Amino acid sequence: MRARVLGSAAGGGFPQWNCACDNCVLVRAGDARVVARTQDCLAIEQQSRWLLVNASPDVLRQIEATRELHPRALRDTPIAAIALTNGDLDHVLGLFSLRESQPLVFYATERVFSGLMERNAIAHTLRRFSGQLTYRRLVIGEPCAVPELGDVTITAFASPGKLPVHLIHALEPHAEDNVGLRITGSGTTLTCATSVRDVRAVVSHLAPSDVLLLDGTFWSSDELVTQRVGSARAEDMAHHPIGGDRGSIAALASVEHLGRKILTHINNTNPILREDSPERAWVARMGWEIAHDGMTVLT
Ligand SMILES: [Zn+2]
Repeated sequence: MRARVLGSAAGGGFPQWNCACDNCVLVRAGDARVVARTQDCLAIEQQSRWLLVNASPDVLRQIEATRELHPRALRDTPIAAIALTNGDLDHVLGLFSLRESQPLVFYATERVFSGLMERNAIAHTLRRFSGQLTYRRLVIGEPCAVPELGDVTITAFASPGKLPVHLIHALEPHAEDNVGLRITGSGTTLTCATSVRDVRAVVSHLAPSDVLLLDGTFWSSDELVTQRVGSARAEDMAHHPIGGDRGSIAALASVEHLGRKILTHINNTNPILREDSPERAWVARMGWEIAHDGMTVLT
């Protein structure tokens, strides 16, 4: 099993189209301390077939940037399946860019799938003919085979978070709204948890892993407030900040068998995006890597 980060930014990307925070200004100026990033997407391969974890609004760019994801016949894709961790728009909008009469298999909880397909008229474009979309249900705690990729299995675990913003007033929250995934194949386990409100609530699901991709959205709770780009705290947006004594990195410091520890889904305001920031140096001292687009995380 191989895995590669296709997109390592949180919703909005880096730079974000309507943002002129310090980081976004630097990246637009071509400053060597920062690298642009597309929105959260991970690709996993076995037997030359690929599983995408989430389908970001940038998915077409991400596919073109990844030679192994190009078609190998006249109308073809090596992408066999897509797994969703929640119904947030930065994770599902790309599905509608993958509609060109291409049969695809979706893995998602029933809540995420129904929120996407049954409350959304444009979802019919993914079901224009019988067999275009095959749905396989992820049930929390039950390994789900992914026969498109050999012996790969996905096990979802609840990651208490929030409903997608567009469903907050329509549904009561549910454990299946937001999940982390343990993906196992060829004796290797990759754990992906990119929307984690409180890391202590999911810590029992993170180890043992060979690779852990963790929510690196915000450095601090008040990051949006102090940079004057928003009023929400990190926790309000269902992301445990990574920095400081109460951050997710400190909370995991004594947990063993996490494997290669990588932060991803990084918001454009996060100081770890700057090569020379003290926050980035601290993250490295604590044994964590910072994802970038195109990063191979499992060979
Ligand atoms: Zn910004």
